[in-house]
Amino acid sequence: MVDNNETMLENIPGKFYITGLCIGCALCSEIAPTNIKANFLEGFDFFYKQPENKEEEDACREAMLTCPADAIMDDGMPDYGLLKEEIL
Ligand code: SF4
Repeated sequence: MVDNNETMLENIPGKFYITGLCIGCALCSEIAPTNIKANFLEGFDFFYKQPENKEEEDACREAMLTCPADAIMDDGMPDYGLLKEEIL
């Protein structure tokens, strides 16, 4: 595990990842269970599979937009913060 905006080592490599900002609420693993798992013992979630189709990609983006800690990142979407402000 790492702090702040760095990716958790548990994330499978790829454009989506969860950072040390995660507070372990497990909301994202409920929204995108095909791609994100909860580590309840250590109190964080992580990507165990990158999305492989539009349905999974949409679920990951929904999880990212829903995350209360803004801990989910997408390297393919660098202006995410701005986009979130526009959407919400
Ligand atoms: S929704 Fe955000 S804060 Fe909650 S477990 Fe997922 S990454 Fe962590």
